[in-house]
Amino acid sequence: MAKGDHLYDCYAPPAQEFVRGEGAYLYTEKGEKYLDFIAGIAVNGLGHGHPALIKAVKDQSDKLWHLSNMFRIQGQYELARKYCDELGWAGKVFFTNSGAEAVECAMKTARRYHYDQGDTERYEIITFTGAFHGRTMGTINAGGNPKYLKGFGPALPGFTHLDFAELENLEEHLSDKTAAVLFEPVQGEGGLRPIPIDTLIKVRNQCTENGTLLIYDEVQCGAARTGKLFAHQWAEGKADPDIMAAAKGIGGGFPLGACIAREDIAKVMVPGTHGSTYGGNPMAMAVGNAAFDAMTEPGFLAHVNKTANFLKQQFEGLKDEFPDVVDELRGKGLLIGMRLKKPALAVRKNALAKGLLCGSAGDNVLRMAPPLIIDENHVREAIGILRECFKEAQAAEDFVA
Ligand SMILES: *Cc1c(COP(=O)(O)O)cnc(C)c1O
Repeated sequence: MAKGDHLYDCYAPPAQEFVRGEGAYLYTEKGEKYLDFIAGIAVNGLGHGHPALIKAVKDQSDKLWHLSNMFRIQGQYELARKYCDELGWAGKVFFTNSGAEAVECAMKTARRYHYDQGDTERYEIITFTGAFHGRTMGTINAGGNPKYLKGFGPALPGFTHLDFAELENLEEHLSDKTAAVLFEPVQGEGGLRPIPIDTLIKVRNQCTENGTLLIYDEVQCGAARTGKLFAHQWAEGKADPDIMAAAKGIGGGFPLGACIAREDIAKVMVPGTHGSTYGGNPMAMAVGNAAFDAMTEPGFLAHVNKTANFLKQQFEGLKDEFPDVVDELRGKGLLIGMRLKKPALAVRKNALAKGLLCGSAGDNVLRMAPPLIIDENHVREAIGILRECFKEAQAAEDFVA
């Protein structure tokens, strides 16, 4: 990172500067081409420069950019109806600009619901190790990652952090103080760990029995990433949440999040309880509607599933080929990666040098979240680059960047 610039040093970007994108590729000023297998961390699901999204932005920018939520914003009614119709269990939506804000709204809704029921002591929110829910004060406290909490003052009360494995024994931890249980159906940041459908169903039932609300954070695993519009839909209605946070891919690259909730729960959020200046503004709604329409087009999810299966097969091949490099496959759908026996960060840097953008995640995982529009040729190209990287990692005694 160049010292002497005027940015916070929260990120340490590489030297490459991308100035243009097209489909699954990013280009530098000099025209160097990179295959993008991280898509802004599961954001550019529809790829770069999707014509329908471009049209939505252009058309809307001629009409109206911003309108306060004091006034009716037509696109919000449309998009909220689309999400609620699609999900079945949901009845109301609050639009935000980011994932963290969607999670904040979800937690506030859950606590306020119990409060309004007269259950004023029911404010505990249970979360799990490896969780990531955002970077605001509330969401770092929800996530509970000591690295993200360090130096930011006393931990907020009202959060209980359980070991990830305790999801299987949740009933032991629920009480009449538990307002909500919050987790990602597929842990992203924590290392691409999908929660088995049976566990989701068990957790759903235990929450119902205990009067605890179930909140899913589908900020990363939603938006068609796992081959369903939302990951919990793999449980086919047997593990629906009460409240869900979505963001990242639902805006296709435009900052957009949503807190989606059951109608009887969300209705406690009356005027004065919550708000946002920008959340759901006309520009965001234009893109959000176009992104929803593209993701729900016939054949879209089938394409995601087909490509994901092909990618997984290819990864299995790499695992067999490089047993000293690849420990295990991780993830679900096109939120997929590998736990490595060599440093994932070093492999990721090497891949970038060879023209492939990947991410990394906790637990030494090489993380990939390619645009959902990729085809088998993109997968073959990525595998070719990864094979070179793994060869070098295997050859190096102490493979470090
Ligand atoms: C990225 C992410 C968030 C935070 O989203 P922001 O838009 O960065 O605030 C929350 N939860 C999960 C699971 C995420 O992956």
